[in-house]
Amino acid sequence: MRALTFVPGQKGTLDVEEVPDPEPGRGELLVQGLALGICGTDRELEQAEYGWPPPGRERMVIGHESLGRVLESPDGSAFSPGDLVVGVVRRPDPEPCGACAHGEFDMCRNGRYTERGIKEIDGYGSQKWTVEAAYAVRLDPSLADVGVLVEPASVVAKAWEQIERIGSRTWFDPHTLLVTGAGPIGLLAALFGRQRGMEVHVLDRAPRGHKSDLVEALGGTYHSASTLEPFAKAKPDVIIECTGAGQLVIDSMITTAAAGIVCLCGLAPGGRTHRVDAGVINRDIVLENDVIFGTVNANLRHYRDAAAALAAADRGWLERLITRRIPLSRALEAFQPDENDVKAVIDLTS
Ligand SMILES: [Zn+2]
Repeated sequence: MRALTFVPGQKGTLDVEEVPDPEPGRGELLVQGLALGICGTDRELEQAEYGWPPPGRERMVIGHESLGRVLESPDGSAFSPGDLVVGVVRRPDPEPCGACAHGEFDMCRNGRYTERGIKEIDGYGSQKWTVEAAYAVRLDPSLADVGVLVEPASVVAKAWEQIERIGSRTWFDPHTLLVTGAGPIGLLAALFGRQRGMEVHVLDRAPRGHKSDLVEALGGTYHSASTLEPFAKAKPDVIIECTGAGQLVIDSMITTAAAGIVCLCGLAPGGRTHRVDAGVINRDIVLENDVIFGTVNANLRHYRDAAAALAAADRGWLERLITRRIPLSRALEAFQPDENDVKAVIDLTS
């Protein structure tokens, strides 16, 4: 079979190579890989910004946004051949820390967790892969064309779960949501907001086009802008910040309604400084009982929540999030960012 592999820590090593078929271990499923989503993390791995190979090996299989179909399942497992599945990315650290010991590996405290396709375990970018049945999630069969979006949606499902848990500290009935950044995470966050009946605004620097069409198809409002100026008066109850752009991150902290929640999902590059009035930010957060929090990764329940949210969404809308489908033989093209992309996906079957 063919797999998309690279040497972590070395640029220019990503390639499609012939490798032996994987052998499922005890309690594992053997899965036919159907599709692999590519995100910023994969591009950073390809650029050798981080990444750790399995112990004792140089190359590893890349890929953490999976979709496959079960070929073989262990006797007595909850899975059957033919099931559409996604594999979870993270595994608990071996120690384990308190969070991992309680199954909360997405909140690992010591950083010694491992991750498929990123940190010490082969990823899902191969024509066949194996996964422990306990770390596989079955999807509705109708998600065959879009199930590759479950992993990014799991990150969004966790973000929403955390927002709702924080909100539940007091009376909580949020009406308006602002999402900054109309990439896959931002657009999925907007979808989840609409599924909760909220008035949804999405801000992105891109001019009107495919992204604004997607937002408006949800019943949301698109703002082609690079500052939060449009929200200076009518402040949103919840902001989900997906750009990591320093000024937007700072401005989001003072742009919520009272008891506002700012969920930071984006990653800022280091090395850029911003002049801020710390007193204004401090006063705004304290006097409004605001909460600002960060979130990353997802637990098993978030994958299940994500699968349910996608199953309840319009399939045509989800398909429009996938702006490029690239055959495995030309997989490297998916790592070239395209400004018209929302999500690039590698077809592992061709
Ligand atoms: Zn841990």
